[in-house]
Amino acid sequence: SDSPVNVTVTGAAGQIGYALLFRIASGQLLGANTPVKLRLLEIPQAVRAAEGTALELEDGAFPLLAGVDVFDDPKAAFSGTNVALLVGARPRTKGMERGDLLEANGGIFKPQGEAINAGAADDIKVLVVGNPANTNALIAQRHAPDVPADRFTAMTRLDHNRALSQLSRKLSVPVSQIRKLTIWGNHSATQYPDLFHAEVGGRNAAEAVNDEQWLAEEFIPRVAKRGAEIIEVRGASSAASAASAAIDHVYDWVNGTAEGDWTSAAIVSDGSYGVPAGLISSFPVTSSGGSWQIVQGLDINEFSRARIDASVAELEEERQAVERLGLI
Ligand code: NDP
Repeated sequence: SDSPVNVTVTGAAGQIGYALLFRIASGQLLGANTPVKLRLLEIPQAVRAAEGTALELEDGAFPLLAGVDVFDDPKAAFSGTNVALLVGARPRTKGMERGDLLEANGGIFKPQGEAINAGAADDIKVLVVGNPANTNALIAQRHAPDVPADRFTAMTRLDHNRALSQLSRKLSVPVSQIRKLTIWGNHSATQYPDLFHAEVGGRNAAEAVNDEQWLAEEFIPRVAKRGAEIIEVRGASSAASAASAAIDHVYDWVNGTAEGDWTSAAIVSDGSYGVPAGLISSFPVTSSGGSWQIVQGLDINEFSRARIDASVAELEEERQAVERLGLI
């Protein structure tokens, strides 16, 4: 087996962190032959809790876990790191304006981008989970000018997985038979889960569903608002499913996507599909050789075009808002 890969997790003492760290330690992030060294970043008041999680990780006696270190300083936490999972973010609290939210997150993702720029390994890969994930990723990316922009990504894999499961239920087919589903745009209520290119057992998914009302009034809003449904039913926000999606995203980034399929990830736009260059927006993507490629040449129908445009417009507004705040 190889030398350990350094993996930094921010917000390590939080709910998602708690579900994520044990799966990383067990080898599910990078594969069963890759030892990992965990670097946990927390804010000072949560460092003690992160140290408690580190003790539990030790108690897992994971054969692939080469060590765990806890930090409250981003420069130290990202030093030499190969994979960074940016989970910790400032959640929106009651009465908070969007500008306040973006400003608070600028205070987190700007120094983290700078620290990644200063000290991460040359092959650094960054996944932002903490919300507003796309724009937090944009802030970090803009403060890491020496790192190729395509190393900064944001998570829409949970939305993708939610859409797979909803479609699987609707058609009574296992998720393993569904291919080429896409989440477009922002990881927010405006996201667009697209079935028009998806295939179910070799058949077009939209044709197999053949129910535009279900698509527009049930499927799309159910996927987009699933987070609220989880809070309502579970009494707490989704955590293990978010962690699971983060594992899927990085695993595919490192190990590649399957031939004849694709997945969804928010990556820096090159202008494809009319998404302004530089925005971090979700696309249909394949992965090979450790990098993402946007699937090209898909026909976008009117139904899809309007929804993609609406979500991308929201991303553009967020970008303008962080520009006005001087965060990028
Ligand atoms: P969680 O671990 O539940 O969530 C962390 C982040 O993930 C939130 O921004 C949350 O956004 C986001 N998220 C993205 N997708 C999902 C999803 N599908 N379901 C739920 N959350 C999602 O939050 P906790 O409050 O338990 O933990 C956060 C930790 O981060 C705390 O320990 C805090 O101390 C730490 N933190 C660390 C920082 C650092 O390392 N510098 C900076 C800021 C915080 P949303 O709120 O919109 O649900």
